[in-house]
Amino acid sequence: MARSTPVAESETVMSPFHRRGRSGAAATTAARSEPDQPELGDGLRLRPMTGFEEEFLETVIADPNTSRTCNELLARCLVPPGADHRAALDTVRALTPAHRDAALVGLRRRSLGDRVVSQVECPGCSATNEVEFDLSAIDLALDTPPSSVRCRLEDDREAVLRVPTAGDQADLVAVGLTSDAARRTWMLTRTLERLGEASGPFPEDAIRGLPTSIRRGLEEALADASPELDLSMSVQCYSCRLDFTSPFEIRGFFLPSSRAGS
Ligand SMILES: [Zn+2]
Repeated sequence: MARSTPVAESETVMSPFHRRGRSGAAATTAARSEPDQPELGDGLRLRPMTGFEEEFLETVIADPNTSRTCNELLARCLVPPGADHRAALDTVRALTPAHRDAALVGLRRRSLGDRVVSQVECPGCSATNEVEFDLSAIDLALDTPPSSVRCRLEDDREAVLRVPTAGDQADLVAVGLTSDAARRTWMLTRTLERLGEASGPFPEDAIRGLPTSIRRGLEEALADASPELDLSMSVQCYSCRLDFTSPFEIRGFFLPSSRAGS
């Protein structure tokens, strides 16, 4: 039996995603996703989803590694339905997580249209708000990430790293580390290519043994170089009028039955 959330009849809503820069992004509707439209911004030629992908999604519905699921889904939509997608998966894994997420938004629009309805709980009064918005309003333009990231550390050494990818993200989740510090160690081990005169790959203990100030410098360099896609929604509660921001779960696009909390 599906647990039902008391959704208020009076729905609030709107203000979709925070928009960045670009004025007039609200222009809606016109775009009913033509194939290969430029807003994907990543050069991916995605086709709309088919029953192959619906069935795939049902097999992974319980997999907590949503990053891996999203990578797989996109890879499958880069090849004809049911075809071997292993090479395509390498392509997707090489994207930054932000570019991968932008591609997911594009795939959703292409497959199921622009309109999305989502339910979010008000942090003030706990009322469930039904939020409806138009995906065409999202600015998916992302900067191309640098091929390598150079930074000068506080001990005056220069470090070279590469920007973390959607593949790194999925692998990190798969490792199942429970501490944030351990996750940072894992990611730095994977992405640090040079430190001063020394070339990587470095053993994990070498990264773990770096002074915190140096690790922090490396982490900040990676964060600065990684493109970000802002998918948070501005919502005003229909009940108490509180304005709040809610993260938008992209996975919910494709898994309508896996509603949060059920
Ligand atoms: Zn409220």
